[in-house]
Amino acid sequence: MSGSILVVGGGFSGVTAAVEAAEMGYDVYIVEKESYLGGRVAQLNKYFPKLCPPTCGLEINFRRIKTNPKITFYTMAEVESVSGGPGNFSVQVKVNPRYTTPQCNNCVPGAEAVTTEVPNEFNFGMDMRKPLYMPNPMAFPNQCVLDASAVSSGDGQKIKAAMPPGHIDLDQKPEILNLNVGAIIMATGWNPYDATKIDNLCFGKYENIVTNMMVERMASPSGPTGGKIVRPSDKEEPKTVGFVQCAGSRDENHLRYCSYICCMATLKQTLYLREQSEDVEVYIFYIDIRSPGERYEKFYKKVKEDPKVHLIKGKVAEVRGGSSPGGVVLVAEDIIGGGKIEKEVDLAVLATGMQPTGATIQIPGIEYNSDGFVVPKEGIIPCGCAKRPIDVVSSAQSATAAALKAVQTLVRRAG
Ligand code: SF4
Repeated sequence: MSGSILVVGGGFSGVTAAVEAAEMGYDVYIVEKESYLGGRVAQLNKYFPKLCPPTCGLEINFRRIKTNPKITFYTMAEVESVSGGPGNFSVQVKVNPRYTTPQCNNCVPGAEAVTTEVPNEFNFGMDMRKPLYMPNPMAFPNQCVLDASAVSSGDGQKIKAAMPPGHIDLDQKPEILNLNVGAIIMATGWNPYDATKIDNLCFGKYENIVTNMMVERMASPSGPTGGKIVRPSDKEEPKTVGFVQCAGSRDENHLRYCSYICCMATLKQTLYLREQSEDVEVYIFYIDIRSPGERYEKFYKKVKEDPKVHLIKGKVAEVRGGSSPGGVVLVAEDIIGGGKIEKEVDLAVLATGMQPTGATIQIPGIEYNSDGFVVPKEGIIPCGCAKRPIDVVSSAQSATAAALKAVQTLVRRAG
């Protein structure tokens, strides 16, 4: 029997679950596939309930990890298989090379040594980055990453020569770890639904159609536009913005369920836009506005009272190019006003929903339902968005509950 807990996923849920379990006295491993902890929350500009930046919640947890010897974490690591049962799971983990050493936290000389650039995935490809890079401004661990493609192309040698000795290690190899744990918390999180799959909404066809997560990155001071929400075509601030709710959610052809967060995300982003410009007009096309709980309902009412915010009950069925340069026309049936409504806007935002990571990456030995959410079993406890669509606050609560359940598994099996 093992007295350790594995947390798969190092986003807000995973980090919370790990810290809670470790502070109850248990040894915890975190396995995270990205090069940093913090997950989707690290990409947000602000998050509910207090609309604070991601640093306000994540940094506290990172400090708790740094000072707790019971937590061991692996980034750029993937669980390859799970076998065994409650109290005694065998888990194989592959840790991919980072090609840097822990003292490498200033990549400027190495980045300047080469001309190669690739789309910056943290900013959804809205800007470019060099092959040696810091994953994000608040990255934890605060250590640069060198792309594997640079190692094989020859850029790696140039970068190594430009960096201080000992910072770049081109000889690193993938490492296989075999962990023995008593319980597994699945905190594998979510991906934004792939908007290119929603043909009628024309993402990728017209330049001035973006997703809600792209707006988060634009609104962030550390984002690709330095905190300004702009039209991709001319980098100008939009004067009219149309939000398309339920983009891919509540749709048998895409995500069958309500994604829970995208109504509140749109209301929040409406506030970003209204803070950015006194004149901007915002049009929100919705089926229902879902603002669960008193706090969210109050926020909804506040946004709705703004005369520059127009809520139109009607699902956008068609999108086409507009008459003004870069304009986009949203076409919907106006359920309340009656008839068809066509609105041309400078910028259209698709409120894409959340799809669990399990819809695209599944770990052998873990059970998933048809949508990709993890099915709980004794000793395997899903939390956060691996379990269902959920907001950050509820994810933290779900993670705390998962930590408790994992400890209960260990106690039961030890007895
Ligand atoms: Fe649609 Fe709102 Fe549910 Fe998102 S939260 S799927 S936008 S109803």
